[in-house]
Amino acid sequence: MPIPPRPLAIRCPKCGWQHSWQPASDALQPSDLPPTHCQRCGHAKLEARPASGLEQAWAQLKRLLS
Ligand SMILES: [Zn+2]
Repeated sequence: MPIPPRPLAIRCPKCGWQHSWQPASDALQPSDLPPTHCQRCGHAKLEARPASGLEQAWAQLKRLLS
């Protein structure tokens, strides 16, 4: 049985930009990968940690509404 990738809470240490990344499925496409650069300032070294339950729910809700 495939194990889905874990959602991540991604944060830019430079400008504070935050993003909750949640894979769409366990079959990842290149376009599904988490961001490697800050989408606000372009900083390349983002911090990532496993997302909390609330952050996971929020990311799922945003995906459903988009
Ligand atoms: Zn940034």
